[in-house]
Amino acid sequence: MRIRLQAPGWDRDLAVEAGDAPAPSGRQVTVAIEACGVCHRDLIDRAGRFPFMQVPITPGHEAVGRITAVGPDVTLWRVGDRVASMHRDSCGACPACEAGETSLCLRAAAVLGLLVDGGYATTMTVPERALYRVPDDLDAAQAAVLHCTFGTAYRGLTRGGRLAPGMRVLVTGGNGGVGAAAIQIATRLGATVIAQVRRADHVAMVEGLGATAVIVDADGRFHKRLPGGLVDVALDCVGAPTFNAALRSLNVGGRMVAIGNVVEERVELNLGWIITRGVQITGSSGATAEEMAAVVALHAARPFALPIHARLPLTDADRAQRLVAAGNLAGRIVLVPGLAAADAPAGAAPEPGARP
Ligand SMILES: [Zn+2]
Ligand SMILES: [Zn+2]
Repeated sequence: MRIRLQAPGWDRDLAVEAGDAPAPSGRQVTVAIEACGVCHRDLIDRAGRFPFMQVPITPGHEAVGRITAVGPDVTLWRVGDRVASMHRDSCGACPACEAGETSLCLRAAAVLGLLVDGGYATTMTVPERALYRVPDDLDAAQAAVLHCTFGTAYRGLTRGGRLAPGMRVLVTGGNGGVGAAAIQIATRLGATVIAQVRRADHVAMVEGLGATAVIVDADGRFHKRLPGGLVDVALDCVGAPTFNAALRSLNVGGRMVAIGNVVEERVELNLGWIITRGVQITGSSGATAEEMAAVVALHAARPFALPIHARLPLTDADRAQRLVAAGNLAGRIVLVPGLAAADAPAGAAPEPGARP
């Protein structure tokens, strides 16, 4: 079974189709999917914001499962290996890949859910380099969403921010999926975390994740009242509403890492500020398989708070996307192909203990 987006937009529900993914060829593998996250990016995909998207397509870039078949040229995997998807594959041979920066590969053509069929399905056939290894004992729903949230946060902090123990880091949108992940990772890497949220009712949750100080700010002027002074690294998980305040929170020589772009507005930059203070601005998205191994190891050593709002059957994919669009969820929604519709909870009530 697979879910199909026939054309961009919300007028028509996602379609449920019978059938399995094609047999793998070349360096492809087929994965029997245990779970697939329903991500905010899936909504952007559905709205047609990426003009290069191919339709019809099977959405989903957050799938986890077991390899059931390998193509004749596969070298990285065997049947039975447990894997999860990254956003896309990589060529392994271009200058970016040679430097280990596989998430910056410009030759990678398989962007899951946009250019090739993704994980809203019982099986998917994808390039072998679009996957990373997942331990057998990691919960499927948590494994599904680990790359897009914790992987993105880990790469942004370590590669983009060059975060080191003892540094001070600002995380904007601390209550969001990537923000909540970033607070936990930065804390484990020995940093002091100052988090920004928009609403006072998010403060307790964000403090519980390890933030030393939380600023409630909805007008983008929090740099004027930063607890404890300026920061070494700012990880902006929001975009235009917080970008300039985050930039102005940086110490001289600080690093600004953009990983969120939740609204369509552009950002205006004060070049004088950037030049005279010697700050660096960099972008970051996703994570490499090597970075995911580090994230998995951190999670295995001491599990992250990674709340799952609900697990829904694959046939509920359309409803799941509409629930994510409506917001106010206590964690992520994950589609579970093995879950029959009758097994699913009525409504999408939070699972016990879903909130960290
Ligand atoms: Zn995602
Ligand atoms: Zn490459």
